[in-house]
Amino acid sequence: MQQEKKTAIDAIEQKASLVCEVADHIWDYAELSLQEVRSAALYCEVLEKEGFHVEKGICGIETAFSASYGSGRPLIGILAEYDALSGLSQEAGSLVRKERISGGSGHGCGHNLLGAGAFAAALGIKAFLERSSCPGTVILYGCPGEEGGAAKAFMARDGVWRDLDAALTWHPEDVNEVETGSSNSCIQVQYKFTGMASHASGAPEKGRSALDAVELMNIGVQFLREHMSDRARIHYAITDAGGCSPNVVQPRASVLYMVRSNHVSEAVELQARVDRIAEGAALMTDTTFERKFIDGLADTVTNHTLERVLYDNFSALGVPQYTKEELEYADALAKTYPGSEGLPGVAAENDEKLREEVAVLRKEYGHAMNAFLAPFYQGEAFKAGSTDVGDVSWLTPTAQIHVAAWPNGCPGHSWQNVSCDCTEIGHKAAVHAGKVLAASAVELFLHPEILEEARKEFEKRTAEGYTCPIPADAVPVIPD
Ligand SMILES: [Zn+2]
Repeated sequence: MQQEKKTAIDAIEQKASLVCEVADHIWDYAELSLQEVRSAALYCEVLEKEGFHVEKGICGIETAFSASYGSGRPLIGILAEYDALSGLSQEAGSLVRKERISGGSGHGCGHNLLGAGAFAAALGIKAFLERSSCPGTVILYGCPGEEGGAAKAFMARDGVWRDLDAALTWHPEDVNEVETGSSNSCIQVQYKFTGMASHASGAPEKGRSALDAVELMNIGVQFLREHMSDRARIHYAITDAGGCSPNVVQPRASVLYMVRSNHVSEAVELQARVDRIAEGAALMTDTTFERKFIDGLADTVTNHTLERVLYDNFSALGVPQYTKEELEYADALAKTYPGSEGLPGVAAENDEKLREEVAVLRKEYGHAMNAFLAPFYQGEAFKAGSTDVGDVSWLTPTAQIHVAAWPNGCPGHSWQNVSCDCTEIGHKAAVHAGKVLAASAVELFLHPEILEEARKEFEKRTAEGYTCPIPADAVPVIPD
């Protein structure tokens, strides 16, 4: 291995116990979206101790931070997340559903590992920059509220990502791979209608029904669906139907709308039409409404140039290896959910030939953990879900990897994930992700011409310009 990369990898190995300790503390705190006070404080504390320049509460978000080291360009950002999910408290390393805290939350998306792996990468890159004559700066961004907060999009609105030469990140998964492809943009707005309560039979003429307004709004949107592009989606949930008494004209009712498209500019336009339908519903029912912007995020812009760098480094470093006990645990955990026999990863999903390759790799390894690197897929992929990494990718070349942290097919946001996220399997994923990201960043620092190429691809893919889905006056909202 190249000496510069070895410097970064050795530093991560030396700090591996610190990385895992941090991952376990964050797992234990299990703080929800935009409430990650202890988690963010822990990162800021260890990063300061490790010699990073830390800025807390950036973009007016209490639990967001940046930690930088180095000077001058290139400027490479590493993205960390650390929020948990409600209702998923779970014992670690367990094969049965067993809450640690009744009704508590848990790291069902592995963000305790995600943050720790990003932290590991930053430590490795810092070690390289310290010992190299190469100019450059690494910034670890603490990005809270990924689960329903879209903090990265708010940070995008406030101009955070635009100055970076590249952003790298990862996510725990059931597979080792370079992630690629686009995703859906998504905007959430809540409409709260207010009418007038009245006896529904005795004085109906005095009543103004907020529930009628919600129903008419839903009908209006139903007609809109015929006149939008096939790539758009609109979902809703009635979050307050105004009570349970039919003999009371409902004075209040609320509906939460989610508008999606694989182009953020289209989602923003469509969302404005939904606003006008709400106005129409209020007019028809003689009610008023309050519009509350919840969050918005953009679709993801792929960068094949950076993905190639990630793949080459992943390939050179190999994948996490497991002990017999770890494999037995993962095999047993996989038996606790159905569908654990599917084929993982973006390559298997999009390419027939690569799908066969993945099938062979899985069969050869013969365990629930996928201890192989999935083949490299460089076609144009698309996933219908949404992530706020999208907003980063519209402002700087961005790429990400997945590292196996769970058995094959392990359902997202499940107790099985929480259980696995505080075991050696999870630790290995975080440390390994740190190594792949650090080695890739070192390559970019040493070869700025790759960054130039990535920039050219980025400019081509984002020629239409970024439409920020976050209004100028919106503030992040803690989800209900
Ligand atoms: Zn996640």
